[in-house]
Amino acid sequence: MNHDVLPDWAARAALWVRDYHAGLRDRPVRAQIRPGDLLAQLPDTPPETPEGMETIWDDFARLIPDALTHWQHPRFFAYFPANASPASMLAEQLIAGIGAQGMLWQTSPAATELEQAMMVWLRRALALPEDFTGTIHDSATTATFCAVLTMRERALGFRGLTEGLSGAPVMRLYASAQTHSSVDKAARLAGIGQNNLVKIATRDDLSMDPEALRQAIEADKAAGRLPIGVVFCSGGTGVGAFDDIAAGLAVARDHDLYTHVDAAWAGSAMICREFRPLWAGAEGCDSIVFNPHKWLGAQFDCAVQFLRDPVAQINTLGLRPDYLQTLEGEGAPNFNEWTLPLGRRFRALKLWFVLRAYGLDGLRTRLRNHVAWTEELAGVLAQIPGVEVVTDPRLALFSFALTQGDAATEALLTRINADGRIYLTQTRHAGRFVIRFTCGTWDCTRDDVMATAEVIRDLL
Ligand code: PLP
Repeated sequence: MNHDVLPDWAARAALWVRDYHAGLRDRPVRAQIRPGDLLAQLPDTPPETPEGMETIWDDFARLIPDALTHWQHPRFFAYFPANASPASMLAEQLIAGIGAQGMLWQTSPAATELEQAMMVWLRRALALPEDFTGTIHDSATTATFCAVLTMRERALGFRGLTEGLSGAPVMRLYASAQTHSSVDKAARLAGIGQNNLVKIATRDDLSMDPEALRQAIEADKAAGRLPIGVVFCSGGTGVGAFDDIAAGLAVARDHDLYTHVDAAWAGSAMICREFRPLWAGAEGCDSIVFNPHKWLGAQFDCAVQFLRDPVAQINTLGLRPDYLQTLEGEGAPNFNEWTLPLGRRFRALKLWFVLRAYGLDGLRTRLRNHVAWTEELAGVLAQIPGVEVVTDPRLALFSFALTQGDAATEALLTRINADGRIYLTQTRHAGRFVIRFTCGTWDCTRDDVMATAEVIRDLL
């Protein structure tokens, strides 16, 4: 394989991808194999001598597609989407072909400056204040971890970085009971301890109770513990909970706490004016993460973190050993200092392609359709005898269950995923086993969404 034949193979790959997407509706959404099935078909040692691309390609086409769960399947309604638009795919192809690494401005000025520009574009698309800047990470988990490390160090006067945490007071981090496990992970790994992540009770609308937040902070202070920050949930993974950020922010400000918003999924929807009340107050927070790789068409991986003032995060994460000193590019950001890994992919290119190829209006239409179809489906399911919509649609997510109880609901979910026409997952809500429905893949249509009702009627 060399550069001369790469274009032929790239063309073949592009055609394969086109046909793969065109044929997705004929495939079961979730891989219908058992653990170990693929592994058993793979040699357990690498080849000593080169193999021909034809052989490699044939093995790919023979072994891989049936062992995939098809995330771009139009009837993938599980988890949150990781939607991939064709423009993003093309950009990813270029990113791979260029193979640049944007750890410093100097190592890839285009990657750095396009990232700066995309942060401005997205800030404006989401109508956030002009003083926000930010960066692109691989995942929301990384962004939230960076935010929690920043909270910790800001609260410790940046001494934890050099002195360690053994002499530090017990630190406390606050988030709603609906928060994503990435916040638990951040508390664990940042040395705060999962037991010091205080999960604040939610109100009937599943938003964090600001009064309970205030009381928890005051009790911790009185007990000599050190509150470090609050993470707000804006579109929770389970059933789409939204905190009242403005109310929680007022409490956080009273105690000078750093604030981070986890809008990994719902953030994309904020390009639509009508959804912005859901995260009112986010504009006043210190840090916000959202994943264009979930719902905006810039495929995995692409997590955007907005920062009101990046200095605290740079002071927490940035290091400049001799070999990373640069003689040129002074004044430009070295984005590795804003995040965890040193090496950085050229992710801004796919945002640039996506935002231009579809325009904000095109993207808004897609998101609005997903929300409208989800609401329509919830209405239809609610009419099916024995089916109960447990949590109403929040954007493009709702949950439902069978009135017969958990065992019956679980059995229905197993039948649905074995059937293969659609793919759904579960969560627990208010002690009940519920099935989540969410849509958002790029090629999903109203018919795909409504097929869910048909499948459920068939399998009841
Ligand atoms: N936060 C929320 C609300 C999520 O739904 C998810 C993933 O689904 C995450 C964080 C973690 O996202 P990532 O996979 O980018 O780490």
